[in-house]
Amino acid sequence: MNSHQKRTPPKMDMYLRAGIQLLFFLFLPSAFTTAFSGIQSVFTQLGNSSPVVCSAFVTVLLALCAYTIIFGRFFCGYACAFGTLGDAVHSLYLLICKKRKKKPVQLKKSWRKPLSFLKYLILTVIVLLCFSGVYANMKGWNPWDVFSMLRASNLKLSGYGLGCILLVLILMGMAVCERFFCRFLCPMGAVFALLPVLPLFSVRRNRSSCIKRCSACERICPADLSLPDTGSGIVNGDCFQCQKCIRICPKSSAQSGRGKLRGNEMWFTLLRAAILAITLILAGI
Ligand code: SF4
Ligand code: SF4
Ligand code: SF4
Repeated sequence: MNSHQKRTPPKMDMYLRAGIQLLFFLFLPSAFTTAFSGIQSVFTQLGNSSPVVCSAFVTVLLALCAYTIIFGRFFCGYACAFGTLGDAVHSLYLLICKKRKKKPVQLKKSWRKPLSFLKYLILTVIVLLCFSGVYANMKGWNPWDVFSMLRASNLKLSGYGLGCILLVLILMGMAVCERFFCRFLCPMGAVFALLPVLPLFSVRRNRSSCIKRCSACERICPADLSLPDTGSGIVNGDCFQCQKCIRICPKSSAQSGRGKLRGNEMWFTLLRAAILAITLILAGI
């Protein structure tokens, strides 16, 4: 896209994202936990040597994976309740720091890359625990079970002490580091990052139209990603499709989509959100 082509004003794009996040949080908050239960269910059944039953959990998991293969991690950027919670907590933290004129605490840049591999380790451990049948007896430690209960105004949390502590620690991490849980810990994020995502709507930049020495898109990226060049087939699995890099680019050099098929326009964002909502509802959420 060159600077003469129309683009959605950055502020409107930001409000659009916040609006979509809020709607999914209010009306489809359980997609993340349901898909995660799908992983548990598949590996528990495999561990029992029983045939894998395509339950509602597994259907939602498959539907979300299929959606992500086509559209990239739009679910993570716009629709996951846990990701939205993280964004809200982080924004609140930044606001408090601003009001109190304090510099926000930041996670060292050199730690971030190695920490991003932790989510694969967590996914592997969970898969092994499910496969061995141990996971089913670990009720009470799971922070996203606690989150789901709180979200449903269920305060019967006795027996969920460890889950509550982990949730508080995760919230603290999400406050000081944008998308802390998504980047470093989320087992669903690890699954999405490993999927072979089609390069149709991934974000890229046209370096020939970039401002010299500009790195605004990299600095704003919550995953510290450097955008690949237009025409490159590279898809970075850690991109949450938040589109912040597109919004901040002063030259409209950053864009999603390929050729004339652009993916960063308002109508297309709404279409992707609608397709996602319909997919989840059809999958039985
Ligand atoms: S990485 Fe995990 S918690 Fe974050 S938005 Fe994606 S599914 Fe949700
Ligand atoms: S913000 Fe835009 S102009 Fe700056 S480096 Fe990124 S793509 Fe290029
Ligand atoms: S800022 Fe851009 S590259 Fe970074 S996660 Fe968001 S969409 Fe992906």
